[in-house]
Amino acid sequence: MISEQKYWNPLLETLAHEKIRKLQLEKFKRIFSWAHERSKFHRSLYEKAGIKPRDIRSFDEIRRIPTVEKSMMRGIQRKDPFPYGDALCVPLEEVSEFRQTSGTTGQPVYQADTWQDWEWWAECWAYILWAQGYRPKDRVFLPFGYNVFVAFWAGHYAAEKIGAEVVPGGVLDTQARILKIQELQCTAMMATPTYVLGMADTAKNKMGIDPRSLAIRKITCAGEPGASIPTTKKRMEDAWGAKVYDHAGATEIGAWCFECEAQSGGLHVNEAFFLVEIQDTETGEYIEEPGRRGKMIITALDRQAQPCVRFDSKDIIEWAPEPCPCGRSFRLIKGGVVGRADDITKVKGVLLAPSAIEEVVRGLDGLADEFEVIVDKQGDIDRITLKIEILKGREGERKRIEAQLKDQLRLKTNLGYNLEFHDYGTLPRYDVKAKRFKDLREKH
Ligand SMILES: [Zn+2]
Repeated sequence: MISEQKYWNPLLETLAHEKIRKLQLEKFKRIFSWAHERSKFHRSLYEKAGIKPRDIRSFDEIRRIPTVEKSMMRGIQRKDPFPYGDALCVPLEEVSEFRQTSGTTGQPVYQADTWQDWEWWAECWAYILWAQGYRPKDRVFLPFGYNVFVAFWAGHYAAEKIGAEVVPGGVLDTQARILKIQELQCTAMMATPTYVLGMADTAKNKMGIDPRSLAIRKITCAGEPGASIPTTKKRMEDAWGAKVYDHAGATEIGAWCFECEAQSGGLHVNEAFFLVEIQDTETGEYIEEPGRRGKMIITALDRQAQPCVRFDSKDIIEWAPEPCPCGRSFRLIKGGVVGRADDITKVKGVLLAPSAIEEVVRGLDGLADEFEVIVDKQGDIDRITLKIEILKGREGERKRIEAQLKDQLRLKTNLGYNLEFHDYGTLPRYDVKAKRFKDLREKH
């Protein structure tokens, strides 16, 4: 019975690491030649750097290949072949899927996929779901807007692929979604951490339904780092009485990593399908050893229509020191994606990652899930304002909460904060990705 199988692909997921590396090198050569041969954009990039496919014999040579940034993709699109531009490696008639990035940091990037690419997306997600304990008997609810963003689209197809039953909760509002989960006794769902917490809040406070009384026992999160932030994960798991697992992916890359049932504090990179390199953001050096953070340069080794070859993702990651107890040989990144090179900003000369603030706020008893961080200037000096909500009935503990918050923020981030307490329910709520961090300093 397939249900009893521990791994989705037992051969690849337990392959010795040196064999995985060999496979990655062979696959890299193939996708590099493909992009070089078929796309004007890629060819001119590589010609300028003086690199030809036959030059690539080792990982050292791969590191000499120029990286691709999101801004470069913006520059070529809307041109021929419309709307993707000349990074496209297949005739337009072979494209079967359109997606675009959510554009939170500028003009969206269009992404083309062939039907084969789309099957690859679903296969990557099948590894994720299987590793998180999804099996054919599961009934999976998908509470997201099915639209131009990739979001959980491939999760939908992968759930079908592994034999689970899928309930698409597309245009329903939050209350209708919760009722549908209850009516059909759905056992698993996928959503952003913000929405997982928001749904629990609606169920409890607006509908009088305890989410733990529902049948949901597995939740797959993506889109935000929350499921890898221990305090946020705990809030979600406590609220739903379910296991919460993280996954990171991107429109331009694919579904490249996942947390497994062992919940060992890291995410497995699917190394059979992706090559992850970590580069020191200051020195440009490549990092092989665990425990040193850098930005991720990633290659999707099998994606064809609009390839992802050495994409500079700006995600900050580090290798974990230990292998995962689950037995997969795919390496782990510790604590998931810990930040974005763009988001990590200097405040009063100190490097600040917004996820560190989230970890403190979500770990403090008496505070609600929502918060907002605003960085601005008071005269010449940087100022950070943290807006938080006290839970109903806990207003009397404000002094204790304030003192603990100040201490823990100082300890975690080495910075002082201007704390603003708000009534429960008054900060903005988000359905998909939250915009909790605002840096207003450029305007001054
Ligand atoms: Zn594992």
